[in-house]
Amino acid sequence: MKVTFPHMGNMYICLKAVLTSLGIDVVVPPMPSKRTITLGAQHSPEFACLPLKINMGNFIEAYEMGADTILMAGGIGPCRFGYYAQVEREILEDMGLKMNMVILEPPEKHISELLINLKQVTGSNSWIDVVRAIKFGWHKARAVDELEDVLHRIRPRELEPGRADVVYRNALKWIDDALDKKELKEAMETAMLELDAIPVDNERDVIRIGIVGEIYVMLEPFVNLEVERQLGRLGVEVERSIYLSEWINDHLFMGLLNMKGSKEARKHAPPYINHFVGGHGQETIGSTVLFANSKYDGVIQVQPFTCMPEIVAESIIPTVSKDLGIPAYCLIVDEHSGDAGVLTRLEAFVDLLARKKVKGAALESSALESFEKRGEPVCLDI
Ligand code: SF4
Repeated sequence: MKVTFPHMGNMYICLKAVLTSLGIDVVVPPMPSKRTITLGAQHSPEFACLPLKINMGNFIEAYEMGADTILMAGGIGPCRFGYYAQVEREILEDMGLKMNMVILEPPEKHISELLINLKQVTGSNSWIDVVRAIKFGWHKARAVDELEDVLHRIRPRELEPGRADVVYRNALKWIDDALDKKELKEAMETAMLELDAIPVDNERDVIRIGIVGEIYVMLEPFVNLEVERQLGRLGVEVERSIYLSEWINDHLFMGLLNMKGSKEARKHAPPYINHFVGGHGQETIGSTVLFANSKYDGVIQVQPFTCMPEIVAESIIPTVSKDLGIPAYCLIVDEHSGDAGVLTRLEAFVDLLARKKVKGAALESSALESFEKRGEPVCLDI
């Protein structure tokens, strides 16, 4: 059995750690690329959401590398994620690709439901070994999140632009290569020392932007066209509303671990949105409120084209923006999105925030009007 899984940001690092610790043969699909999107879009329904198309591209590329089993997260609620895995299985069958799909549905009552599903790939490994492997994967997820947190703070302040990204890429490799907790600790110590050694200007007055939106687009830099890196280079300190380990805790561990997650965001969503609308629609609104309360300069909502929960959130964000005085911008991506167009929009948004910050007052309406006239999916209210 050769097991693969779809990419979602750095998740491959922790999934690979879990599976290889159990002696399972793993095929990590190539990092998402133009070829991945092209392959996925070619074999998916046109109006399927972008993450499904990328998943399909990942599976086809992993199949070419010899994978025969797919480990896939399941979902619940009024959004398409609930039947993603089934649709993907049928597409693969229609293509004549023989792949077994193991779906890890979010447990409803007890975490043991997840472990029983996982047993289909963990085979004869004992429960103790399975739990130990999950713990190791979890530590890797925490490590990459910690790294990203530091990276977000350094990027807008570094004196040699791009240096932090070089260290970050190396550090991801060290974390990925670590075979046990001791090696992981050493990898993190080295990474933090190298990040600390980067010359920065701590006096620089940076703009702070919160990223909210659909989880896959938030976590996968290839799909969001590296929005965080682009913003960092524009002098913006970015904070994401949810990190990988928090999503794992919320989605697969039933929120059992005591850490920041979606709960806090959901609490702050009313009165704007009072119930679950699927995906992270409710959290998008709650997180926008939290960022506004923390005096962030702006919020960017990222979403795939046709994402149902985020369309609901997008229609509410202008009200939140007006009530709480936080400018917001919606970035919608699909398989046709390109770096240059996105960078131009980000530059325009950051420019508006910078001018607002300097003046300490509302921008002239002409600046906002010109932004709107270009036909942007704007929910900007400055
Ligand atoms: S959250 Fe949006 S992108 Fe994700 S599956 Fe649901 S509709 Fe599709």
